[in-house]
Amino acid sequence: MNVKEEAITVYGGMCINCGASDYRILCFDHVYDDGNLRRKKCSYERAGGAKFAAKLKREGWPDYIQLLCFNCNHLKRIGELDVKALNIKRQMARNSYQ
Ligand SMILES: [Zn+2]
Repeated sequence: MNVKEEAITVYGGMCINCGASDYRILCFDHVYDDGNLRRKKCSYERAGGAKFAAKLKREGWPDYIQLLCFNCNHLKRIGELDVKALNIKRQMARNSYQ
């Protein structure tokens, strides 16, 4: 398993909102989108990005990252996702691999 596959597996293997599991449309999303500079630079990264996956691994798979597909990521950006429900789903995804 390469580091990309490992990262996707660690974060639940699918979009935590809709369950899409095609890695080509998944991205690592920052849970706490507070509009700061960091968000602009790297608030989401294609899950196919080995560099970013390696960074997550070095950081011990931080909690502030979740897997979303492009569609759900877009919905989150425009405020159309229920963030509370998303938090519960994220916890469930994490529980399954801990
Ligand atoms: Zn989705």
